[in-house]
Parts: sequence; C-alpha cells; structure tokens
Amino acid sequence: MKNTNPTSETEWKDKLSDDEYQVLRLKGTEPPHSGKYNIHDEIGNYYCAGCDAKLFNSESKFQSGCGWPSFTEKIEDDAIEYIRDKSHGMIRTEVVCASCKGHLGHVFNDGPKPNYIRYCINSISLKFRPESV
Ligand code: FE
Repeated sequence: MKNTNPTSETEWKDKLSDDEYQVLRLKGTEPPHSGKYNIHDEIGNYYCAGCDAKLFNSESKFQSGCGWPSFTEKIEDDAIEYIRDKSHGMIRTEVVCASCKGHLGHVFNDGPKPNYIRYCINSISLKFRPESV
C-alpha cells in the first residue's frame, strides 16, 4: 500500500481534528473516563486515527477501570513501536503507531493473565470498525 502519511506538521494539522492532533502528534492525553472507547465492547477492530493501520481488536480489550481503553495484545508484531518516556517524573513506555509514529498511549505490566500486559490507549488515537476479528 502506498504510504500517504503527511510529511510535515502542517499537513498533520490539516488532516487531523484539533483533539486528534493534540494527542497523536503532541503526545497529549485525553481525560480519564472521557473517551468513546473506554466503555465499549462491540466486536471489531481498532485502527490508528492518524493513518488507519490496524492496531488492536476487541478480543484483547478488557475493562481495566483505569479510564482509558485497555488491551492485552497488539494485533500484529510490527504494528506498534515502544519509546522510553521519562516525562512527568515517571519512567514509562510510550507506544506509538509504527506506521505514522502517532502517539497512542503507554504500556504497563499490570494487565491480566497470562501475559500481564496492559496497553493503555487514548480513544482519540483509535477508530473502531465493527468487523470480524
Ligand atoms: Fe498510525
């Protein structure tokens, strides 16, 4: 597939809404319990709101209670990249879309068995489609 991702921040601003730009490009965080996919249990797939790459599916989504959509697994091995994040006085692992480098959220090791992974993802970084998974 041809890569049609914007190549400048000006183009990203044109492509994304203000809220999407704030989270995806400026690494903002939507307020907890505010996102449209926090409480959302339809069957389907979650795509990057920046570039439409497939990132997660409903099979790995769980209710963590943290206030953001939570997943135990990414969908493809190369869908997501990890960045060490030392902002806000914490050491965390940021997750970004491997395709467009858009900020998605963070990953923690307090998820459910068997792998204990919790991807904590901003709803605004995702677009859901009801599909078979
Ligand atoms: Fe993306």
